[in-house]
Amino acid sequence: MIYGEGELIVCQNCKTELENIRQEKLLSKDRLILLKQPERIVQVNYPITKNDNSVKIITAWRVQYNTILGPGKGGIRFHPAVDLDEVTELAFGMTLKTSLVDLPYGGAKGGVRINPENYSDKELEQIARGYVRALFEVLGPHKDIPAPDVNTNPQIMAWMLDEYEKIAGKPSPAFITGKPIEKGGSEGRDRSTARGGFYILEKEYESVIDKSEITVAIQGFGNAGSVMADLLFKAGYKVVAVSDSSGGLYNKDGLDIPKLIDYIYGEENKIKKLITYQEEQKISNEELLTAEVDLLIPAALGGVITAKNAEKIKAKMILELANGPILPIAERTLVNNEIKIIPGILANSGGVIVSYFEWRQNLDNEHWSLEEVNDKLKEKIVGAYEEVKTMARKENLTYRRASYKLAIDRIVKKSNN
Ligand code: NAD
Repeated sequence: MIYGEGELIVCQNCKTELENIRQEKLLSKDRLILLKQPERIVQVNYPITKNDNSVKIITAWRVQYNTILGPGKGGIRFHPAVDLDEVTELAFGMTLKTSLVDLPYGGAKGGVRINPENYSDKELEQIARGYVRALFEVLGPHKDIPAPDVNTNPQIMAWMLDEYEKIAGKPSPAFITGKPIEKGGSEGRDRSTARGGFYILEKEYESVIDKSEITVAIQGFGNAGSVMADLLFKAGYKVVAVSDSSGGLYNKDGLDIPKLIDYIYGEENKIKKLITYQEEQKISNEELLTAEVDLLIPAALGGVITAKNAEKIKAKMILELANGPILPIAERTLVNNEIKIIPGILANSGGVIVSYFEWRQNLDNEHWSLEEVNDKLKEKIVGAYEEVKTMARKENLTYRRASYKLAIDRIVKKSNN
């Protein structure tokens, strides 16, 4: 056992993953012990004034799971159900992800427990600025660098940056990534998560000449999911199902993704729900997950593939664009059913890779072209993918296990130096 009896466990899934790795004798207890607890957890509760002049206390977290490889790096999630356990699990995932793709970063994550739909822009701005004020001491360009995640976007990053610079008293664009371009953001950051996953898929399906033979279902039609749908559609794949929190759409001959994106995102400052789109057959999120497709891409929230639905999944491959969409208990069933899984720490690392490029550009006062960013992203993510594939073949491991082994090994090596 890595954990002693009675030890306080913050993230049950982190513990399960580490224990699984130990039991499978992939890495020894001595190596895993470095990752058994997060380095630092900060919870803050701060007030904002609502439009009706009432005061509301906002609860938020920043978790720096491990910083052996460099400053913390990880997004900030705004969600009504986010809690310390989830933020810790996401920070654990970031620790492995930055290591796997060989970035000079540790892993961190932030969460704000709100439903953004219940707040006006003015209130959201206060929430964003308040987060930075409350956590100023633990954040910074060389301490811990935030970024967007679920329900946070370039505008929120811009408010956070402005607040940080006000307190620091100097320009500090490298404090945060995923900013608007005019505030020092990188070309291509907005599409980088999906683009990175897409480069991996292009390698996986290299031998398939006619991509329209490959049917795809994508859960989540936000930043990650809608861009992935767009890239796959334009490359000729047949995207037959997509969904968002309101439900899904299905067309066995393939959905017209550009038309759908235009409908959902066509109006400024308003994202429509898929359920309001009249032209296609409606399906539920559960039906989408178990649809008869070649490739399933969860690109919404974590924990959607469970012990209950894993047995019904028919896809031959799952690419995790979301963080942690497959529960460890469900993974066993999927592996037994010979479903190939490209784990999130590899598949969705495009976002943090281009965040790193953004940070570098800020520190060096440069601005790279979109082509340069995409070329560098491709080189980095395909390099990591090849490394995982080689290790998986050599040691007869799943891609997830090979990814974990490579990532943890790199952290242990650095800690020994
Ligand atoms: P987003 O907020 O832009 O979009 C989330 C999408 O998921 C929306 O379409 C929403 O309607 C949908 N959704 C929410 N709840 C749902 C539910 N219960 N069922 C089905 N759909 C639901 O977020 P995003 O940036 O696209 O992130 C999606 C996932 O990708 C998250 O797990 C995030 O951690 C991960 N990710 C994102 C990035 C990034 O750069 N954006 C990077 C790495 C990982």
